[in-house]
Amino acid sequence: MKTDPKAAVRFIDLNKSYGAVHVLHDINLDVPEATTTCIIGPSGSGKSTLLRCTNLLERPEAGKIMIGDEEATARDTNIDKLRERVGMVFQHFCLFNHLDVMDNVTLALRKVRKMGRAQAEALAMEQLDAVGLKGFERRRPADLSGGQQQRVAIARSLAMQPAIMLFDEATSALDPELVKGVLELMGELAKSGMTMIVVTHEMRFAREVAGRLVFMDKGRIVEQGPPDEVFDQPKSPRLQHFLNQVL
Ligand code: ADP
Ligand code: MG
Repeated sequence: MKTDPKAAVRFIDLNKSYGAVHVLHDINLDVPEATTTCIIGPSGSGKSTLLRCTNLLERPEAGKIMIGDEEATARDTNIDKLRERVGMVFQHFCLFNHLDVMDNVTLALRKVRKMGRAQAEALAMEQLDAVGLKGFERRRPADLSGGQQQRVAIARSLAMQPAIMLFDEATSALDPELVKGVLELMGELAKSGMTMIVVTHEMRFAREVAGRLVFMDKGRIVEQGPPDEVFDQPKSPRLQHFLNQVL
């Protein structure tokens, strides 16, 4: 097989079932480095499952996921190490609600990276500053807006200095007026050269930020390509139908 040397993540014949329900069918996808790949598609099409397989929150039963030169799906993969390289941001933030902002951002640095408190906090301050949350270190998640909580989650991921960032509908749970700020932050991160896989319903973001757009339906990749092409010249009736619903 001819391989693209610049793929940051490569999905090869990936299949995933939950019990008897076959959710991902023969997924083959190259995610280029330093590019944002947006994944769109109807609810239940397997978008979250694909992301969750990428950092081994789920185990695919067949096929491979390559992260750079390493096979993430290999039996002996060190999951902590993998998740240091592949950060993930969720729809519902998944912060530790009993910890304040600083402790949320430093926890993995201290427990996984074994960093001392001072060093971890300095790194965390840098990231919190970058997401516009300097001064919020001692707040609990419950005392923040949804947009601020999502920024903390992004800062927490970035503090681990990942090579790849996964976003699963990161703005879907936010009040409408808070969406823009988080999308702008994601856009800046994309521009900085981060490799990102972004599952989103924000079609404008996908068109503007994505280097590559992937449309999934019923556990398969139905179309992919440059966003303008995918949006403006959808080939399959399924994508045409989907775009009619969301645009
Ligand atoms: P999407 O993110 O595109 O909405 P998902 O990956 O969440 O899709 O789900 C794909 C399919 O897998 C859906 O039919 C969903 O009901 C099913 N599914 C997702 N997670 C589980 C689970 N933990 N157990 C059983 N079925 C699941
Ligand atoms: Mg989902």
